[in-house]
Amino acid sequence: MHEGRFNLQRKMITGYVLIMLVGALFAGLLFFLRFQIQTDDNIEAQMRLTARLFGAELDKYGIEDAAGIVDTVEKISGMRATVIAFDGSVAADSQDSLQNHRDRPEVSGAFKFGEAIATRKSDTTAHYYKYFAGALQIDGEDYVIRIAKELHPLNQVGTRLFFLGLLIAVAISLVFAWISVVKNISNIRRLQQIRSEFVSNVTHELKTPLTSIKGFVDTLKQGAIGDEAVAEHFLDIIDIEADRLTALINDIMELSEIETMRGDKGISDYIIDDIIGDVVSIITPGAEKNGIKLTVRKSPAVSIVRINRDRLKQLLINLLDNSIKYSNPGGSVILDCELSGNNVIFTVSDDGIGIAAEHLARIFERFYRVDKGRSRKRGGTGLGLSIVKHIVELYRGDISVKSVEGQGTTFVATLPIAVQM
Ligand code: ADP
Repeated sequence: MHEGRFNLQRKMITGYVLIMLVGALFAGLLFFLRFQIQTDDNIEAQMRLTARLFGAELDKYGIEDAAGIVDTVEKISGMRATVIAFDGSVAADSQDSLQNHRDRPEVSGAFKFGEAIATRKSDTTAHYYKYFAGALQIDGEDYVIRIAKELHPLNQVGTRLFFLGLLIAVAISLVFAWISVVKNISNIRRLQQIRSEFVSNVTHELKTPLTSIKGFVDTLKQGAIGDEAVAEHFLDIIDIEADRLTALINDIMELSEIETMRGDKGISDYIIDDIIGDVVSIITPGAEKNGIKLTVRKSPAVSIVRINRDRLKQLLINLLDNSIKYSNPGGSVILDCELSGNNVIFTVSDDGIGIAAEHLARIFERFYRVDKGRSRKRGGTGLGLSIVKHIVELYRGDISVKSVEGQGTTFVATLPIAVQM
């Protein structure tokens, strides 16, 4: 449980760090772009400076040399240069336009206010341009000199739009961060709920045998101890309930130990025959007592496994013990062990009572039992399959179950633990 929450916090932190990294990367990219493209201010400053030099040259050489000067300005600055007379006629243009320019806003603006700037799509090239126009007098006549710069696509949308985009991007990432926070909080709540359900289940499970023990002790004290046969029967029940308590506590401890692990400890190479041999000797008395035939079929290909030996024993015992518990006398339980790549496939099948389809999806849940009475009568804790599932997950394996009610059940556990010889 604690590990679960710890994992979640780690996931949350990793999530935030990732979001921040992506945000920083995005901001860095935009920053880089801002230097790659020029800002409106930069463009205007560059245009104004060019226009000044342009004007100074015209002033120096006179309007007769305008054609040569506009060509030089374009060559040096890469920007189109135009000289426009007061009536709008073009006195010189580096791109040889002859249209009247009087109605161009930057031209009329410059004649009115001395300087004007405009941005628009050019009729000639269909590209976006920024125009800077400045008025000046040459030989006593009024002229406007104009510089035109083709804009980068990002400048076309304008710096304001560009920042609006940035703002929207930041807003979207904040929304994503918020959604992830809300999702994580609901995950924490869900974990807390699972935890409190587990605690109440455990309490209930512990209380049942304890109540029974206390009841029989009280009855004994009230006089039943005098009747030797009855007393012995009661003591047997107390003994069974005490065993149940021990089994339950052992299972809870086992489960909580596996749950808090990321990978198993105590992993070593073992001869699989030794492990199966141990399991068989533990399981056989119970099988015999219940009149069940136990068969092991091990492929010779499986030889050495790398695992925590006790963990594998626990897994096999839980599956085999269930098959015996939920079979009828005269039944048969088979353990198959095969190799597939580096996977060892353990198949435990029985011809017992089976599990109805609607229960199949839930039997790996803690304390889930199809038939509570039968499970308890057979000493079940309701945790066996939950432990099996956790062991399988610990080794990144897989477990599946198939069952037909009244015909039998087959569990297949696949563990990537084979050591290639
Ligand atoms: P329990 O201690 O009750 O056996 P488990 O977690 O081991 O708990 O199993 C959960 C439930 O799944 C059992 O109560 C039983 O109803 C069902 N079950 C498990 N194995 C088998 C099987 N081989 N045949 C029929 N039912 C099974």
